[in-house]
Amino acid sequence: MARTLKVVDAHAHLGECCVFGLLTTEEQLVRRMDESGIDATIIQPFPGATNAEETHNRIAELCVKYPGRFFGLASVSPHGDYDAYYREVERCVRDLHFVGVKLHTIGHSVNPLTEDGDRVFSTAHELGIPVMVHTGPGVPFALPSLCIPAAQKYPGLNIILAHAGFAVFTAGAQVAASVCKNLFLETSWCIADDIRWMISTIGADRVMLGTDSPTNVPVEVAKYRALELEPEVYDKVMGSNAIEIFKLSSRGENVRAARGTASEARS
Ligand SMILES: [Zn+2]
Repeated sequence: MARTLKVVDAHAHLGECCVFGLLTTEEQLVRRMDESGIDATIIQPFPGATNAEETHNRIAELCVKYPGRFFGLASVSPHGDYDAYYREVERCVRDLHFVGVKLHTIGHSVNPLTEDGDRVFSTAHELGIPVMVHTGPGVPFALPSLCIPAAQKYPGLNIILAHAGFAVFTAGAQVAASVCKNLFLETSWCIADDIRWMISTIGADRVMLGTDSPTNVPVEVAKYRALELEPEVYDKVMGSNAIEIFKLSSRGENVRAARGTASEARS
């Protein structure tokens, strides 16, 4: 792709959330990225989006409007009609060129160990995309260890533990990642020294920047800067890991190719 990606935020949302009472606008996302030197952001709907399909379309439009700066990640409840779930995730991947799918343990009330939890993992496995799982607040469903069985069942599937346990369960996320090589740690809301600990124990290849909220963008970037990491380690955790895991280079080209599809989906 034409644009050189260096710093990537692996976790951000667009739109409204009736579960957590939040709202994030496109203007906030772009402004915070510019302020903090974020080259690209992976955007997903909130679990409390009033209409996840519409938000997926909005995200696809944003990807088209800012080529190479935004990449979509699908987030829709796996409860209920399985075919409808699969069709929407497949549409996001094949038509809108999204780069992953979310399993929201608390926002969608999904226990990763259940049949509905497995729908997310099996769908992603089939479509060849990674799964991001919310960990932290919302136990027991949000316990990082609950992702170990899926990571073992689908060894070729990359699973990103969003929030890496959210500080209070970070040790659990570290243990889970130490057991399964296909578990990755996205560190929004974590303690800076814990991020250093995860990098030193799990490795620089499996830890990545995420912000989750526009206010967090400068905060999360500051944590990594404060760690004074070796330049090659810093480059990995700040961007190249996300680029590799979410296959952003090739997807960036796809996003531009999807221009027509996204505008059709909107109309
Ligand atoms: Zn989030």
